[in-house]
Amino acid sequence: MANTTGLVWLSDDLRLHDNALITRAAQECEQLILCYFVDPRQLKQDQYGCQALGLHRRQFLAESLQYLSDQLVELEQRLNIFISEPVSSIEAICSNLPVTHIYRSKPVAFNESQDWLRLRSSLPGIHCVSEETRCLFNAQDLEIMGAGKGFNAQSSTDTFPKTFSKFRRLAERCSYPVPTQAVTSLPPNISLKAFNFEPLNPALWIVNNEPYARGGEIAGLDHLQTYMSSDAPNQYKSTRNTFDSWEESSKWSLWLANGALSVREIAQALRNFQAMHGKNEENDWLMFELLWREYFQWYARAFNQKLFLLNGIANKKQQRGSFYAQRFRQWCSGTTPYPVVNACMRQLNATGYMSNRGRQIAASALIHELGLDWRCGAAYFEQQLIDYDPASNWGNWQYIAGVGADPRGGRQFNLEKQTTIYDPDGAFINRWTNPADKYPLDYVDAADWPIA
Ligand code: FAD
Repeated sequence: MANTTGLVWLSDDLRLHDNALITRAAQECEQLILCYFVDPRQLKQDQYGCQALGLHRRQFLAESLQYLSDQLVELEQRLNIFISEPVSSIEAICSNLPVTHIYRSKPVAFNESQDWLRLRSSLPGIHCVSEETRCLFNAQDLEIMGAGKGFNAQSSTDTFPKTFSKFRRLAERCSYPVPTQAVTSLPPNISLKAFNFEPLNPALWIVNNEPYARGGEIAGLDHLQTYMSSDAPNQYKSTRNTFDSWEESSKWSLWLANGALSVREIAQALRNFQAMHGKNEENDWLMFELLWREYFQWYARAFNQKLFLLNGIANKKQQRGSFYAQRFRQWCSGTTPYPVVNACMRQLNATGYMSNRGRQIAASALIHELGLDWRCGAAYFEQQLIDYDPASNWGNWQYIAGVGADPRGGRQFNLEKQTTIYDPDGAFINRWTNPADKYPLDYVDAADWPIA
């Protein structure tokens, strides 16, 4: 390895355990620069009036970065954290320092893939290396099973399994790599002091003393261990639809989203649990759900920007209609005529988390009761969810809107029926709302004047 200087561009891979990217860079380079860029676009309002990186996720991210930074200091390395557009910043670093290799996790969502392509074409003399850190499978693990090019090429939508069931049948016959150990030593760092990118001190973003959960690799691994040492996996399938309880679903999504936990580490822990306590329908349903996550990751890669289009991957014509700003505000603030939706939205606003059942109900209400463009709801979830993951979020919204992977063509939930089944004694609604409060629809006109 003659004169190799690597730049590791960290993204949703904020961990040292099972991190193929850092492991490979450590093996191949004599000097290493580790960077994380918060893209300033994520802090601005998007076309839906939402800020992609909302407060809950910002704190969780800051904790994750702080923890990783401390770990790297122990390995005599340094994490450079900037608020700066990544591609132009990396280009500037490469034109001033002798960088020979750039390392980045294989991107999933469209913008991230575009950034990676842009960087590769603007720096032809540098080896651009990517590793899979986000998925259970490598593309070739799935392709071996005969899915053609469906899991690799950008324009592979013809061969990609259009329903989850097809994907699951394929995936269940494939094997995926076991997680790797954390690196224990790293090559020395090169200082970036000469660059005047805006630095981020993560401590400034840690403002809530009682967050829903703490970010970072150690918090994620501790949580995984606690969950797997309990009997909770053996009740998972029966309890997973609960609205408001920490133990009754796994909460892995929180750490999976920014890569503080590896999905292969989780799958391994689940296998170990099953080897010790026996595999049953309850605990195996966790694997079923992880495959849903996996499906949406490959789906996002296969369909690129179609993930974000009104007509979805199905290209099913949607009525755009008019945009009811007041209805959207009511949905966001939990002041709709539907108590169960209000409770879900207030829980989300207060904690940064909403159960899977809550997400389905809230999404269905936005689309089918309020008649709004599903993408506004997806954008609000992006802002509010700690576990926001582009593939799972936009993929699930498409599913409920009927423009995605649902063979039934969309889901409309009966809100009263859902309330009777999942909140029979009203405890959840009472916790988050005052049932005496009534919120009518459409009580202001287009200029926000009250309609008498
Ligand atoms: P568990 O029930 O314990 O499931 C275990 C794991 O399986 C989860 O951590 C998650 O990784 C995966 N999983 C479970 N259900 C799904 C699913 N429907 N789709 C994909 N993966 C799943 N999940 C996100 O991680 N990020 C998002 O931004 C996101 N947005 C969503 C938006 C909508 C409209 C809907 C209906 C679902 C969304 N989900 C999203 C999926 C799901 O709601 C969450 O993964 C789950 O509620 C997280 O809680 P948990 O970790 O306790 O899940």
